[in-house]
Amino acid sequence: MSIREIEELFRKDLHELGYMVKNSEPVTFTINAHINYSNVCETRCRICAYHRGKPFTLSVEEVVNEALKASRSGAKELHIVGSHNPDLGVEYFEEIFKRISSKSNATIKALTAAEVYYYAKKDKMTIREFLNRLKCAGLEILAGGGAEILVDSVRKEICPRKCRSEEWLRIMKIAHEIGIKSNATMLFGHLESFRHRAIHLYKLRKLQEKTKGFLAFIPLPFHPEGTEFSFKPSPVDILKTIAVSRLVLSNFKGIKAYWVMLGLELAEIALSYGANDLDGTVGKERIAHSAGAKTPEGLGKEELIKIIRNANRIPAERDAFFNILKIYEDREVRICK
Ligand code: SF4
Repeated sequence: MSIREIEELFRKDLHELGYMVKNSEPVTFTINAHINYSNVCETRCRICAYHRGKPFTLSVEEVVNEALKASRSGAKELHIVGSHNPDLGVEYFEEIFKRISSKSNATIKALTAAEVYYYAKKDKMTIREFLNRLKCAGLEILAGGGAEILVDSVRKEICPRKCRSEEWLRIMKIAHEIGIKSNATMLFGHLESFRHRAIHLYKLRKLQEKTKGFLAFIPLPFHPEGTEFSFKPSPVDILKTIAVSRLVLSNFKGIKAYWVMLGLELAEIALSYGANDLDGTVGKERIAHSAGAKTPEGLGKEELIKIIRNANRIPAERDAFFNILKIYEDREVRICK
């Protein structure tokens, strides 16, 4: 699919796109916990409300305690992301990951490519050295954030001090080469055009063809509250973007309906427009909520199952790598080996 062909998909009617992505596979979710270690950030992106809140930084002890508490309550995936804090560095993350992985089997999914770029540069390490050190400490998956729109003319406007698009892609490529999987996001509905979204999806598809290291794609509708912008994507635009993502990124296992930013109703509808994963229980989320997300801070497993069943789909619990663990068919639960 060329960039022009992808761009054309965004102009199709929503119902036509819905028909093109129709399927009846189970919809997955996981039991996870989001832990945000700090909001102190010297990158100060124009699209970000999170860094404008009351400053906080968790100690190693606090992050580890939150992670182990979540793991004891059944979390299979620990999503640990934060900011670009000049007082932190590789040793902070190494200590956190080592201590968590010595006491828990939960998968550590942490740091975006933008955080990796910032902390490796600050600690005067190559990307490969930085990632290898954290892999040895227990890091298994990189979070997909910081991608925003992978077009530098847009990045200059919305996040001028964040790594450039080629850096983001290069870091993901290196991570995949050394055996760290990752996700990828796209923040849309601010200044970008359909063509910019098409370029973003095209670049991700091309990299996945080479590395096969991406697990899931997470389309994130922009929330303007507390940022320097006021635009917001409409529900129709959000559903169309999810459907186009499913069509273009057919080589990604998961397309997430990230309920935290979509809202529960739209997340349920998105399951009929190409999304096949609801993310997870999440726990205490700070980033989207600082930009005005009105969803609960976390959901129970039963609530996720209900959303999936309301969409006439079969719920399936997965691990962080998208292996299905249990299928909830009607009232019966089938355990998968
Ligand atoms: S988006 Fe990330 S890098 Fe940018 S200001 Fe917010 S926390 Fe910092």
